[in-house]
Amino acid sequence: MKPFLLVLSSPSGGGKTTIARRLLQGREDLGYSVSATTRPIRPGEKDGVDYHFLTRDEFRRRVEVGEFIEWATYNGEWYGTLREEVDRLFAEGRIVILDIEVNGARQVRTSAPDSVHVFVLPPSAAVLVERLGRRATETPAKRRERVQLAAAELAAVTEYDYVIINDDLIAAVSNVAAIIEAEGRRVSRQRRLIGGIERLRQEVIEEAARIAGG
Ligand code: 5GP
Repeated sequence: MKPFLLVLSSPSGGGKTTIARRLLQGREDLGYSVSATTRPIRPGEKDGVDYHFLTRDEFRRRVEVGEFIEWATYNGEWYGTLREEVDRLFAEGRIVILDIEVNGARQVRTSAPDSVHVFVLPPSAAVLVERLGRRATETPAKRRERVQLAAAELAAVTEYDYVIINDDLIAAVSNVAAIIEAEGRRVSRQRRLIGGIERLRQEVIEEAARIAGG
């Protein structure tokens, strides 16, 4: 199967990162593209695992030399998907998961029309705000900005191919897995099968001739 990009977007606090991490457990056919960002590292995060944490100068330099397949600003910080990261995972034959916001997703839709875009909705405004509130590392002003941004991001849901509601993590993960399963079976992604299908067709023709002759 021809591997593809699976874009997961949701308002901050929507739970897409948790879904992506859970989905990846024990699946060799999937890979997570570790983004670059200029935002400060949070407690518990690891450089190179959660993000590649870059200075603004370094991020700008990489933009200038074309190292990103998409990048966007979010809440005053820069975030981007590294071409190298995606190419490496594709070379390993994996479907690549991008956990990115809506402006970056638009760029991916344009440059990779066969990418699959999934929007993850929080079950309610109260849950979204509560999840954001758990990030004690952020100032109330930053949190308020994220909630305001969430309202703007929700308006983009109609641009996506699929929408799921994250009210139950296990159900949400299995919904995304089902989307991956179905998308992987698109004829356009099954180039290797085409030869096999032609062989099958010839056999059926021979079989038809045999029945007619017998
Ligand atoms: P956070 O700071 O909470 O980790 O991420 C803030 C937002 O940036 C989230 O919506 C997240 O999906 C998005 N984001 C993370 N990496 C990228 C990226 O590489 N590109 C874009 N466009 N957005 C990203």
